[in-house]
Amino acid sequence: MNRKMASVTGTIICLFRNDLRVHDNEALHWAIKNGTHVLPLYCFDPRHYKGTYHFNFPKTGANRFKFLLESVADLRQSLQSKGSNLIVRVGKPEEVVPQLIECVGKNMVQGLVYQGEVTEEELTVEQGLNKKCGVKVHTVWGHTLHHKEDLPFNPKNVPDVYTQFRKRVEEQAPVRSVIPTPDRLKPLPPGIEEGTIPTPHDLGVQESTTDPRTAFPFAGGETTGVARLQNYLWDTDHVAQYKETRNGMIGADFSTKFSPWLAHGCVSPRFIYSEIKKYEAKRTANQSTYWVIFELLWRDYFRFVALKYGNKIFFSGGILGKDIPWKKDMRQFEAWKSGTTGVPYIDANMRELLATGFMSNRGRQNVASFLTKDLKLDWRLGAEWFESMLIDHDVCSNYGNWLYSAGIGNDPRQDRKFNIVKQGLDYDAQGDYVRLWVPELSKVTGGDVHTVWALSNTVLSHAEVSLGETYPKPLLVAPEWGRHSAKSRGRPQGKGDKPQRNRGIDFYFKSS
Ligand SMILES: Cc1cc2nc3c(=O)[nH]c(=O)nc-3n(C[C@H](O)[C@H](O)[C@H](O)COP(=O)(O)OP(=O)(O)OC[C@H]3O[C@@H](n4cnc5c(N)ncnc54)[C@H](O)[C@@H]3O)c2cc1C
Repeated sequence: MNRKMASVTGTIICLFRNDLRVHDNEALHWAIKNGTHVLPLYCFDPRHYKGTYHFNFPKTGANRFKFLLESVADLRQSLQSKGSNLIVRVGKPEEVVPQLIECVGKNMVQGLVYQGEVTEEELTVEQGLNKKCGVKVHTVWGHTLHHKEDLPFNPKNVPDVYTQFRKRVEEQAPVRSVIPTPDRLKPLPPGIEEGTIPTPHDLGVQESTTDPRTAFPFAGGETTGVARLQNYLWDTDHVAQYKETRNGMIGADFSTKFSPWLAHGCVSPRFIYSEIKKYEAKRTANQSTYWVIFELLWRDYFRFVALKYGNKIFFSGGILGKDIPWKKDMRQFEAWKSGTTGVPYIDANMRELLATGFMSNRGRQNVASFLTKDLKLDWRLGAEWFESMLIDHDVCSNYGNWLYSAGIGNDPRQDRKFNIVKQGLDYDAQGDYVRLWVPELSKVTGGDVHTVWALSNTVLSHAEVSLGETYPKPLLVAPEWGRHSAKSRGRPQGKGDKPQRNRGIDFYFKSS
């Protein structure tokens, strides 16, 4: 950089983190308001491309990285169209920001602004920035629908039961208005290299591939996120059926699919809320339109729970501090993560996650219950695998939901356990979802596919399935599943055919 060119006063560095958008962006708004020049910055932090904390899974999987790259590229384009640019660096923000301050000239930089986070790794970055930058640092609250300062209680006292939180927030906390999108941005300080957006290879991330079966066929970025909102509400009216369709398993439209955009901050929850309110005023206000907001409040809730409990959300015993002797049977875990447990509904969901980075909420609840309540494996294996794989990974929602599923979080019913077979039959009655993701069972007809181990030899051979060869024998068969096998449901097994009893399958519980 040519230092002589830097005749600039009052530059604000606006560090983008999980707020990759121009609309309703409080940090950007603050920067524009307070600086003569604004330097928008995104750092690809190498720590995000190492291993997860305990189990060393790739911290950012291929599908999420693709979404992130698309989001950063889209943000750059938006900022360029408004007379600025996105400066991109690979490096730790605590090191990159001081270097940029040096480049611009310390006395020219008036401050740094970013959206604050609540969990340890992110807070460590903030502490580093505060220590090393030597300029005024301004932190804004974002990410949630309800602003922290508008809660009707001290966030440290957030109720431990969601319903209590929701009712008080709905009754007493307003949702702030959306901050207007700036038409033009303040100029960049001169002479700063824009920097190249890295490739997966640069950061040691695998290249992603698109699976045509995906329920999330979208690209990342504010532009596509806002288009999805427009489509789900205004173009198709899907939002008016959300409550009835939200537990679906196949296709893009059974639920909103807002989560990856929300997790990366490409779309603000307040913007979604304001569009739903407009939709309710102009078209329909019903249980479904309300229910999207109800779900957004879950997202808020887990963020405030993380704020309240700090690192306890990562502990083995969770926020309840329970002493549970979790197993660490890696053979069973490998089967779970690769979708080869021999339990078709679990395998279908886990394979979808592996191939696409997405899984429905119904699927997530089931695979989490299976891991923690049936296999009794350490819940953190599951949480870290999700952290690696999910395109919508959000540390508070992920760990909060895992704690909930494991019975060491905010579920008032701590003994909740999903009956996987019943769930499969309730939400995939004809087995279409299983056959989509587990093609080796494609010739097993109807809902029988959920209890493939209970089918007779004749049925299995007709469907070209050989348990233990073409498809695994189940790791376990829970006693309560028996109530839902084809036989119990009164389905014929095939002419003159008896279901074979225990063909080499160890019933509850087989461990290695
Ligand atoms: C074990 C487990 C782990 C999860 N990990 C994550 C995660 O890392 N990131 C994430 O965004 N969601 C997570 N969820 C919540 C939920 O599964 C996803 O938000 C949802 O499936 C995303 O699809 P959607 O956008 O179509 O959701 P919709 O059903 O359309 O819901 C609308 C929005 O509400 C929010 N929401 C819905 N359900 C929840 C919930 N239970 N907790 C928090 N927010 C919710 C999401 O922002 C979602 O986009 C997890 C759930 C479980 C059971």
